[in-house]
Amino acid sequence: MKPYSSARDEYKDLEANMVFLDANENPFNSAVNRYPDPQQTALKTLISNQKNVPTNQILLGNGSDEVLDLIFRAFCEPNQDSILSLPPTYGMYNVLANLNAIENIQVPLASNFELEVDKILANVKTNTKLLFICSPNNPSGNTVDCAAIEQLLSAFNGLVVIDEAYIDFTDETSWTERINSYPNLIVTQTLSKAYGLAGIRLGICYASQEIIAILNKIKPPYNINTLTQDAALKALENKNKVADQIKTILQERNRLAKALETYSFVKKIYPSEANFILIKVDDANKRYDELIKKGIVVRNRSSQLHCENCLRISVGTPSENTQLLTKLKTLK
Ligand SMILES: *Cc1c(COP(=O)(O)O)cnc(C)c1O
Repeated sequence: MKPYSSARDEYKDLEANMVFLDANENPFNSAVNRYPDPQQTALKTLISNQKNVPTNQILLGNGSDEVLDLIFRAFCEPNQDSILSLPPTYGMYNVLANLNAIENIQVPLASNFELEVDKILANVKTNTKLLFICSPNNPSGNTVDCAAIEQLLSAFNGLVVIDEAYIDFTDETSWTERINSYPNLIVTQTLSKAYGLAGIRLGICYASQEIIAILNKIKPPYNINTLTQDAALKALENKNKVADQIKTILQERNRLAKALETYSFVKKIYPSEANFILIKVDDANKRYDELIKKGIVVRNRSSQLHCENCLRISVGTPSENTQLLTKLKTLK
């Protein structure tokens, strides 16, 4: 397949002192009257330096949701292929499988949310092209055992996608360091969580040059708009601010977890390496409704496998967390 060749692909040097009459744009400067850089060169260079991954092993998407969709479309044949996912986990893998007419073989995590390598491999079919692993996992908050992932990377004859949306909240090292050791490894990250930029929609994909070249061919030419590229550059350049916020969120996560232990209707607090905490309560529907009445919205995850009566609570600002704890105290 030949990708769409845009004006900005054919003459790339936007910074050059040239008269640009090649893209039918409005010539009057408004900061956004020109098409964005389709290869996001400045942004990728900065990410490349910070993450120590060459730019030709990076692809950017309109959120990691777009990256995941591109992976489906590039590597799975509709009505023919299958993927593996490991519930309870991020809901988009199943939505994207349905959307792309791909069978989703679901192999449950163990009740402690660890993955079961033998069970997973036993469920692989000849048409299984992708395996999705979310680490730290949403909604459970745990990171997945490295040795188990290594086993799967070696034994599975398809692509392994490790979703690291919450990687900035854990001490575990990112799998981006291993993309050159495993040609079938794809790592996704996002600016939606730790970086505080859910609204700009920026997802990042790291993989071998070959995989990135394929994804580049099928991505929409201008999928990362100018405002997003500018905002992402600014946030990534201001590393200290993000680091400070992460530090506060981690302190608050620990404070919340400790405090929640003292409430009698909280039955279990799952250890978290993300910016949320999963808790098991006596009656999740009841506690959810009570919190809504008090002006606090958490996520009821009761319908998810192994998550009976579980609520997922995002870590808020210190004042928001104090409000949560105060309101919980009034519940009987
Ligand atoms: C929030 C989240 C994402 C983020 O997706 P974006 O499209 O980048 O906002 C991806 N994966 C998981 C597991 C998430 O929880």
